[in-house]
Amino acid sequence: MSSRPDVLIVARLPQHLMQLLHDNFNCHNLLDGLSEEKLTQIAPAIRAIAANGEAKVPREFMARFPALEIVSVFGVGYDGVDVPAARERGIHVTHTPDVLTDDVADMAIALMLATARNVVRADRFARGGEWKNGPFPFTTKVSGARLGIVGLGRIGEAIARRAAGFDMDISYHNRSRKDVPYTYYGDIKSLAAAVDFLVMITPGGAGTRALVNAEVLEALGPKGFLINVARGSVVDEAALTQALKEGKIAGAGLDVFENEPNIPAELAALENVVLTPHMASGTLVTRTAMADLAFNNLQTHFAGKPVLTPVPN
Ligand code: NDP
Repeated sequence: MSSRPDVLIVARLPQHLMQLLHDNFNCHNLLDGLSEEKLTQIAPAIRAIAANGEAKVPREFMARFPALEIVSVFGVGYDGVDVPAARERGIHVTHTPDVLTDDVADMAIALMLATARNVVRADRFARGGEWKNGPFPFTTKVSGARLGIVGLGRIGEAIARRAAGFDMDISYHNRSRKDVPYTYYGDIKSLAAAVDFLVMITPGGAGTRALVNAEVLEALGPKGFLINVARGSVVDEAALTQALKEGKIAGAGLDVFENEPNIPAELAALENVVLTPHMASGTLVTRTAMADLAFNNLQTHFAGKPVLTPVPN
């Protein structure tokens, strides 16, 4: 028997984190085709689960591991983990906040600019020689426009700071008002009606499911753009596709989708969208920092010290 703690890996994790885990723990990888029989056999020894932001770690799954002490999530969002169930058993749940804030905020701005200024279409236009037939159609100005942020937390505030550099008029919606120099809206529909760009950056999960529905899109209006860097679940994707097709909103920039990695063909076929593959935190520097933090939470815990970044209550 190994004296190293047994860790169950339940998600595809970056090489750097896999290396750290394998160098320090006795690892078992669910994605390596671990049989049910083998899983049952090792279950009593498992003391930690290594997951990512998308991995499902429900109550029944955790119940299989009587010695489970900690679930370390590689990512700031942890909507796949049943945190109340973990708490009942005193299992720590950790995530990787802060280290990814800049990148995700950068990507929100990138999607806003790319969508409003039609950068992807313009690239095809320039490369493909269409330019010879005449100039590119006019696009939408971002500087000075009205921005609404849904979820003014760590990343939301970083988006607001960047948007201030574009002289944008900034408003937000959270469940609770904050002491910030931006206009607060108590409901998302009124916020949508008051802005040109609506940026979603809340957590996922049941509490935010389909916050953006047909009514909110209607309020955003035919000149409005939706940017989603939060979770696919926060937007009703069918309603969004419909609104984009019918010109009920002007366009959308999306990094996240309801059923990743699948994007409905109907949505992908539209010209007024810019789509990216859930990569807002995907720079080498940031993913390395996230991996280090996800690992350090485990390492610190097994050294008998308090975990570094527990998920909030
Ligand atoms: P924070 O916890 O700092 O901020 C979350 C904000 O959302 C808070 O201001 C909170 O305010 C608000 N919020 C929560 N629930 C609701 C609700 N029902 N309605 C309105 N507002 C709500 O988290 P971060 O800023 O660090 O991260 C935010 C999210 O961004 C992550 O949970 C993740 O889903 C997403 N993300 C996406 C990435 C990507 O790759 N695309 C990468 C990283 C993060 P209040 O409590 O007052 O409502």
